[in-house]
Amino acid sequence: MSRFLTPTLEALQPYTPGEQPQEKQYIKLNTNESPYPPSPWVAAALTADEAARLRLYPDPACSTLLRAAAVRYGLKPEQILPGNGSDEVLFFALRAFCDAKHPVAFADVTYGFYKVWAQLLNVPAHVIPLEEDFSLDPVKYCALSETIVIANPNAPTGLALKPAEIEMILQENPDNVVIVDEAYVDFGAESCVPLIQKYDNLLVVQTFSKSRSLAGARLGLAMGSEALIADLNRVKFSLNPYNINRLTLLAGAASLRDDSYFRRTCAAVVGTREWTERALLKLGFTLTESYTNFLFAKTDKMGGRQLYEALREQGILVRHFDAERTKDWVRITIGTPEQMNTLIETLKTILAKEE
Ligand SMILES: *Cc1c(COP(=O)(O)O)cnc(C)c1O
Repeated sequence: MSRFLTPTLEALQPYTPGEQPQEKQYIKLNTNESPYPPSPWVAAALTADEAARLRLYPDPACSTLLRAAAVRYGLKPEQILPGNGSDEVLFFALRAFCDAKHPVAFADVTYGFYKVWAQLLNVPAHVIPLEEDFSLDPVKYCALSETIVIANPNAPTGLALKPAEIEMILQENPDNVVIVDEAYVDFGAESCVPLIQKYDNLLVVQTFSKSRSLAGARLGLAMGSEALIADLNRVKFSLNPYNINRLTLLAGAASLRDDSYFRRTCAAVVGTREWTERALLKLGFTLTESYTNFLFAKTDKMGGRQLYEALREQGILVRHFDAERTKDWVRITIGTPEQMNTLIETLKTILAKEE
């Protein structure tokens, strides 16, 4: 830290991303990436000619990508804003709709970045505890005078609200923006995108990092009323008009067009999740009900950190969150069937040592 850093930044606790080891080969079940490559249409779009065109700036309006996204989601291109990962559009939204006098509300156990952005932007955070079983009580989100962010399905718990429950929150907060972060929605929950036509206070955020196997490309979408998207564009064009690079624009559009590949790979992940759930239950694990590409699991044989470390020693990376309510748990990303088989066999050995 230099002596020049502002007090706000000095006090801030930055987000800690999951480990991305560049050397030792791990079975990587720690950052909810897809075990499958993106659609072959993505590689086909990334030609040598396109590489040569990298001398040119990308289209700041992202027109081709927006047309493909509009078709996929049944929206107008003006109702969508692409970001450099959904992280960027979430940040744009908090920058646009919150400030020192306009707080943001979110759950105590949820995506860790919401808290970091609130600190970075000097926005007061209203943290609303989840219930004992990690479920979210929509009643606690009624009649707030704050912007609301809900990850649905939630991470790391995997639980999902029904659109009717989100709809109640939208109705009870007509003067607040309600941001629904649908990073995991493609793995079995119901999307709130259809509610966009009905509620001008709804902003839905999705990512290409999980269900579209494009974490390395950095692409996410914010979707909402034309007015909300215009607000986000004010932030984008005040910060970085070229936020999506040329190759990612091409990759994203190709991925959106190949709907059948998208559906097949999501279904494969869900199938592997169901198999892994049964195998973990047989080993005595407690699980939350997952609507995502990960499982949130605990065993009474050892704590979360101990389990994380034992797996790491055997070459398997999972995620442990060292907070009071999550310390007994680990979050396990769904990999290929073969990887999950190795996980289960490894867990058997680890747990046998604890007998
Ligand atoms: C992974 C994740 C994101 C961020 O995704 P990117 O598009 O890779 O920035 C946002 N929200 C939640 C809940 C996530 O799990």
